Amino acid sequence: MKIAFYDTHSYDKESFAKANEKFGYTIDFFDFKLSERTAGAAKGFQAVCVFVNDVVNAEVIRILKEENVKLIILRCAGFNNVDLKAAYDAGMKVLRVPAYSPYAVAEHAVAMLLSLTRHIPQAYLRTKTGNFTLEGLTGRDLHGLTAGVFGTGKIGRIMAELLSGFGMDIILYDPYPDTKWASSKGFRYVDVPSIFRESDVLSFHCPLTEQTRHIVNHDTMKTMKSDAILINTGRGALIDSKALVHALKHNHIGGAALDVYEEESKYFFNDWSANVITDDVLARLMTFPNVLITSHQAFLTNNALANIADVTLGNVKAFENGTELVNEVKPV
Ligand code: NAD
Repeated sequence: MKIAFYDTHSYDKESFAKANEKFGYTIDFFDFKLSERTAGAAKGFQAVCVFVNDVVNAEVIRILKEENVKLIILRCAGFNNVDLKAAYDAGMKVLRVPAYSPYAVAEHAVAMLLSLTRHIPQAYLRTKTGNFTLEGLTGRDLHGLTAGVFGTGKIGRIMAELLSGFGMDIILYDPYPDTKWASSKGFRYVDVPSIFRESDVLSFHCPLTEQTRHIVNHDTMKTMKSDAILINTGRGALIDSKALVHALKHNHIGGAALDVYEEESKYFFNDWSANVITDDVLARLMTFPNVLITSHQAFLTNNALANIADVTLGNVKAFENGTELVNEVKPV
């Protein structure tokens, strides 16, 4: 089996080369993303392996089919960038890695929260330059605050349990609530308006769907506490970024920790330090002292990378062997 890997970086190459020792596939690592312009590079490959910002729309799938690609393997959990119906109609299987380390993502969300509430980036820069003053670094205890967890799947549950460890009160929203788990932990499910209204910290762990796109918008942010903190390690488009800029400018919310951004695909994973950023919303977000941005980094631990590589190549093996495709995603 020959697999074309799109949008790869040094850490992908290392983890997949290691995992492939036991599978022995022929792998080509491309540093460019999959799109209409680059789909032709899959000529001669039976499978393409993609990540969160590759474009796998109907046109890309049409080209891949022309090139005889049989399999689309996602080395991530989310699949909002894939036109599942087009893939299904083209007879292509789509496989993903449903879980690789939910701890990696939840722990990163906590790291961002603490960095924001305790001004760690500012403190780090100060002490690096010999400035040991404390003015402007006054933080906030998490203990006793209310944390809202929006989406209580694998990552959301760990997030809720971690935040509970700080002594926070935990409220939850999920259209498919697990009330048994929640009550065993002393957590409670609430409705959408309540989670926006009551949370001091509101963290998003749901998939991006038509229901959740821009769930954080002018209207929902207006109902939030003026010192509330948003955390988004889900998908960028859960938040209407222009509305977020507006809310931050007018002190309608207290801050935001963003590992994802709705227009991230042009910038994230790339070095733009010597270039002009033309996305005015991203550039504005970067200026706020109460906004912390990481570039879709939450998944990036050694444990997660090893699991991603093992499961991804295991998915290919299952396809080859004709065994049950437990990680297949199909259109609903
Ligand atoms: P999961 O499938 O285990 O859980 C998702 C939960 O969201 C489920 O409980 C589901 O019922 C709930 N949900 C569905 N629709 C909802 C809605 N309209 N409102 C609220 N909740 C809803 O997924 P997971 O492994 O916990 O991952 C969650 C999300 O995190 C993924 O969809 C992905 O977008 C994102 N993610 C980000 C990174 C990163 O590096 N930043 C890494 C992995 C996953």
